[in-house]
Amino acid sequence: MSRRGVDLASIELPDAAPQRIAVRVNADALRQIRGGHPWVYDASITAQNRDGAPGDLTVVFDDRRRFVAIGLYDPTSPIRVNLLHRGEPRPLDESWWHERVAEALARREPLIERGDTDAYRVIHGENDGLGGVIVDRYASVLVVKIYSPAWFAHLRHLLGALDAALRPSAIVVRFARRVAAGTTFGLAEGQVVAGVLETERVRFRENGLVFEADVRHGQKTGHFLDQRDNRRRVRERSRGAEVLDVFSCTGGFTVHAAAGGATEVTSVDSSAHATDATRCHLKLNAPANAKVAAARWHPRHGDAFEVLEEFGARQRRFDLVVIDPPSFAARRRDVGAALHAYGRLCSLGLTVLRTGGTLVQASCSSQVSPDDLTRTLHDAATASGVRLRSTEHTGHGIDHPVNFAQGAYLSALFARVER
Ligand code: SAH
Repeated sequence: MSRRGVDLASIELPDAAPQRIAVRVNADALRQIRGGHPWVYDASITAQNRDGAPGDLTVVFDDRRRFVAIGLYDPTSPIRVNLLHRGEPRPLDESWWHERVAEALARREPLIERGDTDAYRVIHGENDGLGGVIVDRYASVLVVKIYSPAWFAHLRHLLGALDAALRPSAIVVRFARRVAAGTTFGLAEGQVVAGVLETERVRFRENGLVFEADVRHGQKTGHFLDQRDNRRRVRERSRGAEVLDVFSCTGGFTVHAAAGGATEVTSVDSSAHATDATRCHLKLNAPANAKVAAARWHPRHGDAFEVLEEFGARQRRFDLVVIDPPSFAARRRDVGAALHAYGRLCSLGLTVLRTGGTLVQASCSSQVSPDDLTRTLHDAATASGVRLRSTEHTGHGIDHPVNFAQGAYLSALFARVER
């Protein structure tokens, strides 16, 4: 923190009410909370002693007035309480916050120790016991993304614990859309709340390759850290291959394919900004990496569905095709349409894949289960007269732990194309 500590003095953050809110919940919710579920839905609350403001500490009691759990109140969300602690009552003091961060870091130790990666998710929301907030690290910079207004009243504690554990050079705050739409207590999207941000484009290493994250304006927190392991797998399968990276964004898969010895990589994205970032990332790696320098790169700007159709019609063929689209289903009712889109992308991908080639198709739609994805892709393949022999199903990396059913959102299928 340029050794200045967290300086939020000039920002008027709210304080949580000194009095805690007390709630009771129905029997089903009680069982789930005791079993570790991190949320209390408004609909499961059967009694509440008073109304509260975002961030007020809320205690769940059972019918015998025993403490069950404590969490942060959010009157703006159906997830009314994000639980932080359960079991024996305990003050959420400085040592409690320090323990949460230390535990999260311990879970990521194998990745941190590997030494070829200095960007990872430090806190994965409720999966690390801190629902409503995520923290991503890019080298010495931390990005804290807030998904619930309940966090403003507790930001000092979280930042203090992060600072003590990681000594970042800067901390940037980002807001989910629904938080940005309400009050942010004078904090601006992308504001540096501690330390000094030398540059908005923070350089970091992923699997030994160099990237930059636009930590103030980039999507999410600047880079899709969750695909790190799949990118490494793509690198391992790219030697001598012609690779197509669909929905390439800032080029994570593209750069890994080039580094793995792909002869050429075609990157398709509808955003010109994404193409620029991919170009920059290839340039950054070329001087130290002969394979990246040697790979031919073909950026292609446009709609993924249309470009795939065009490549199919032109008989363009590839040895490895990565299809990693944005989320198609954030809500339950979107699942049908999402599966249809995944099926269509798979069929299109197969039209441009050589026999013996590899399809890598991912879903980051939280409502789409890995089974749904697999079935949809196999159905689409069968309808196209192709057999997909799956070689690997992948999920979450260790810095995106899953602690409850709704915590899982990422799945990917690696499959060989047989005809
Ligand atoms: N594969 C990327 C992440 C993809 S994020 C990675 O490894 O980092 C989704 C990307 O899809 C975004 O860059 C967005 O610009 C792009 N996108 C969204 N809709 C699109 C469409 N219809 N056609 C092409 N690209 C699209």
